[in-house]
Amino acid sequence: MSAKNYPNPDKKYDLHSHSTASDGELTPTELVEYALECGIDVLALTDHDDTSGFQEAARAAQKGDIELIAGVEISTTWNKRLVHIVGLNIDPSAPALQAGLENLRGQRMERGARMAERLEKRGIPDALAGARQFSNGNILSRTHFARYLVEAGYVKNVNDAFKRHLGDGKPAYVASDWAELDEVVGWINAAGGVAVIAHPARYKLSATKLRLLIEDFKACGGVGLEVVSGSQDKKDTRNMAEYARRYELHASVGSDYHGPAQSWSGMGKQPPLPEGCIPIWQLWENHQS
Ligand code: AMP
Ligand code: MN
Ligand code: MN
Ligand code: MN
Repeated sequence: MSAKNYPNPDKKYDLHSHSTASDGELTPTELVEYALECGIDVLALTDHDDTSGFQEAARAAQKGDIELIAGVEISTTWNKRLVHIVGLNIDPSAPALQAGLENLRGQRMERGARMAERLEKRGIPDALAGARQFSNGNILSRTHFARYLVEAGYVKNVNDAFKRHLGDGKPAYVASDWAELDEVVGWINAAGGVAVIAHPARYKLSATKLRLLIEDFKACGGVGLEVVSGSQDKKDTRNMAEYARRYELHASVGSDYHGPAQSWSGMGKQPPLPEGCIPIWQLWENHQS
């Protein structure tokens, strides 16, 4: 792309999405095909703690008029809370990143076993085996437990599974020490990528805590804030645009699409970045000739 027509205001970006490599419902190929149907020009695959879907997605992207960005969404502990940090435009083969992600996947297995014990005590046996059928050898997510609880008839739907059993502070919730913020941002930067705070409105942080998170994140070398996210209202988007402006963070946009059953995050339906935001993709597109 030439400097003259940059940035192309007509391009549609979706820089946060999931495939069956984590807790999405579509295979990497199906996800790319769906993004094409939704009119996305630039898609980032950002599976939880795993980049194994990238190769397949890249092959599918070559067949259509869509650019694929390698990404990841990393489970991070900040001040004893779980936050999600997205890495964009990473080199998926970077050793420190892969070692860190492998460790997180191990923690997910341990957490899963403990969650299953808690569910068993609540009269729900065999949840680990049930969830693993849904994860199909890939990372083990609470989403897979939720799908099992639905299939086995314990709850009406996935949302209900989180509300009654799996959500933060609910009886089968098991807190875990994920990777620390400075480690996570370090892995992403060492992989040549850019680090972004995912769906900042979803953590329900007070203004003071959100400022602290952003300040810590910046001090670690983080550069982006997901200003437009699939699951948030206009007020949150305006608010996050203001944080991005005030803290000189680049703004990202992502649906957090997980598949047709999780309708809270439709693909291609996000509004454009608010006026005054500096798009995160400038950080990698500016380097292209
Ligand atoms: P985990 O990464 O295993 O802790 O699982 C978190 C994932 O569960 C998120 O990435 C979402 O995809 C999903 N999730 C969290 N809360 C809900 C909810 N209330 N309803 C549906 N899915 C949810
Ligand atoms: Mn998820
Ligand atoms: Mn997330
Ligand atoms: Mn996500």
